[in-house]
Amino acid sequence: MKRPEGPVVVFGAFAYFRAMLRKERYRKLIAYFAQHQPDPETELQYRNPFELLVAVVLSAQCTDKRVNMVTPALFEKFPSPAHLAASEFEELFPYIRSISYPNNKTKHLLGLGKMLTEVFNGEVPQTVEELQKLPGVGRKTANVIVSVLFDQPAMAVDTHVFRVSKRLGLVNQNAKTPLEVEKTLVSYLPKSLIPKAHHWLILHGRYVCLARKPKCKECPICEFCRYFEKNFAPKHSDSPSAPLN
Ligand code: SF4
Repeated sequence: MKRPEGPVVVFGAFAYFRAMLRKERYRKLIAYFAQHQPDPETELQYRNPFELLVAVVLSAQCTDKRVNMVTPALFEKFPSPAHLAASEFEELFPYIRSISYPNNKTKHLLGLGKMLTEVFNGEVPQTVEELQKLPGVGRKTANVIVSVLFDQPAMAVDTHVFRVSKRLGLVNQNAKTPLEVEKTLVSYLPKSLIPKAHHWLILHGRYVCLARKPKCKECPICEFCRYFEKNFAPKHSDSPSAPLN
């Protein structure tokens, strides 16, 4: 029996239309941020690759602001992987006591110092695979390091990137994992812009597209945001500011 073609054609057209919409959102996102934030940077303070690696490990589930408060004294006392490798839990712990999960992070940093010293000759490795072998370093941290330090096209998906990408409509609304979001973002963004886009999305999530109360009414990119369209864009008979839901 011949398969009916109508719905397939309609669905195909819909998928095509949706992909076009998404491409358009990416185009507008890039155009806006390239103009208004051409050189975004991490807000973590560091002077060399080792310090950035330590700061990023400390920043998991913690704010950059809090990390920046403890790192000056920490780096003064432990200026290299060898210094960390040679220290004890009781020596390191007080320096990061005010950071979230200080017990685990102390153990991670001690192990990280040891591995950097013994396996990587005291240098921060340059690949995601090698970085992920270090204690306390998952895919997100490894992506941040290769992107910020080595300008590689890696997209680190933290809670801000995850949330903002979904709200803007850059990725599938039912994307469940950071890896899913990472793959979609990487497939749409030009390689050369991936490191910058990472910062654009993080900073937008940190200061405008807040988790609990996004500042939609003052958001400069609401014009191409899916969430805004859905919740605030006027329909023919509605008043301009009526939420639609
Ligand atoms: S319009 Fe609202 S939801 Fe969309 S990016 Fe801006 S703050 Fe986030």
